Amino acid sequence: MAKIRVIVDRDTCIGCGVAPATCPDVFVLGDDNGKNRVVDDWSVKLDEHESIGEVPEDLKDCVQAAVDACPVQAIRFEIV
Ligand code: SF4
Repeated sequence: MAKIRVIVDRDTCIGCGVAPATCPDVFVLGDDNGKNRVVDDWSVKLDEHESIGEVPEDLKDCVQAAVDACPVQAIRFEIV
């Protein structure tokens, strides 16, 4: 199945919780710093500054909704 690469800029994220509320299959606020991150199922890189995930393409609409809802434009994705 095709995937999309989802990148969360955790330095920019303000931890508002909208991304996990909008798309809980992909996002969760991290236990480490309260900032958004990609859930373990899809995570390929995680540190305090950035979270990257490779997410099944069928979740793209969900990710797009979170991208559109984020007040600080901290989420982006690309087709891989
Ligand atoms: S919507 Fe944006 S600011 Fe809010 S938790 Fe998600 S990434 Fe962070």
